[in-house]
Amino acid sequence: MEHIFNFSAGPAVLPVEVLQQARDEMLDWHGSGMSVLEMSHRGKEFMSIAAKVEADLRELIGIPGNYKVLFLSGGASSQFAMVPMNLLRGKKSASYVNTGEWSKKAIKEAKRYCIVNIAASSEDANFTCVPPQDTWNIDPDAAYLHYTPNETIGGVEFNWIPDLTHLNAEVPLVADISSTFMSRPLDITRFGLIYAGAQKNFGPAGLTVVIVREDLLGTTLAGTPTMFDYKIHADNDSMYNTPPTYPMYIAGLVLEWLKKKGGLAAMEQINIAKAKLLYDMLDTTDFYHCPVARSDRSRMNVPFTLKDSALDDAFLKQAKSRGLIQLKGHRSVGGMRASIYNAMPLEGVAVLVEFMKEFASNHA
Ligand SMILES: *Cc1c(COP(=O)(O)O)cnc(C)c1O
Repeated sequence: MEHIFNFSAGPAVLPVEVLQQARDEMLDWHGSGMSVLEMSHRGKEFMSIAAKVEADLRELIGIPGNYKVLFLSGGASSQFAMVPMNLLRGKKSASYVNTGEWSKKAIKEAKRYCIVNIAASSEDANFTCVPPQDTWNIDPDAAYLHYTPNETIGGVEFNWIPDLTHLNAEVPLVADISSTFMSRPLDITRFGLIYAGAQKNFGPAGLTVVIVREDLLGTTLAGTPTMFDYKIHADNDSMYNTPPTYPMYIAGLVLEWLKKKGGLAAMEQINIAKAKLLYDMLDTTDFYHCPVARSDRSRMNVPFTLKDSALDDAFLKQAKSRGLIQLKGHRSVGGMRASIYNAMPLEGVAVLVEFMKEFASNHA
């Protein structure tokens, strides 16, 4: 097989070392005679895998003891409902920041459970930027404030964490961090709750991680299903029901890989270098165009258009023949999107940039 660089937005590229290790351990995990796929989630083998995943995650991020780490299924999309069901805590409203497609989905779902105050929106700017915090209007009675640190589809990323300390009552910050999770250091103490679907930058589809401050748990909306109650999962170490065992195992291998790479600060530097390489090229040509404001460009998902969209098919076809795959933009925005998560090496971005320069000069 020739070498492929996979720019999928998710499920996305995984470190090749992780896939090789999973292959080697597929039939017999550590001499147990079993595949991880075949293990009881309550057996000592899988319990040790689960404990190590949590310990490594806590170590890499630096998660304090008063935060619970939950390993759930249902995708980030289930969190759009679980967040209001668990965090309204008797209040009637929640504040949301609307920066794109994923924010909109979270807002739509929250409206089923509470009054949604839109604290800020970049919809007027076609979701090409982050609204500065001094323009936000946060409902002081809101149960929490929800935002999307990286909009995977629009390619818009916050390079700052909202500061809610000026509000009279505590309004916990909640973030759908699916597509920037583990790509940079994270000060979890600034948040009440974060959640991430694993398939963007952390592991396979089927696993969703929730990190939540303990004191926010325990008051759910009437009618909340047992499986949607964070406290049930927290009290049962994510083993109330069968957790997504194989995705947790793969995520564990990804965490070991991250530790070998030097952790989140080292990974951030690599991610900055990769993004710079691609954006610098986009900015030095008028053949390609990135619609996102320079200060708010995502390090993970880079959307761009070609000067003439009639060339899109030729671009994708020739890219594919060079081993550069899954570059087609999201159906809602068109154009191209290169997702350059942790597991995309700098070399992959360099090959893409060379190809793009060549394509531009051949079609100038
Ligand atoms: C992919 C994505 C989702 C949806 O994740 P699912 O696991 O498919 O539910 C939600 N939010 C963001 C920011 C995403 O990138």
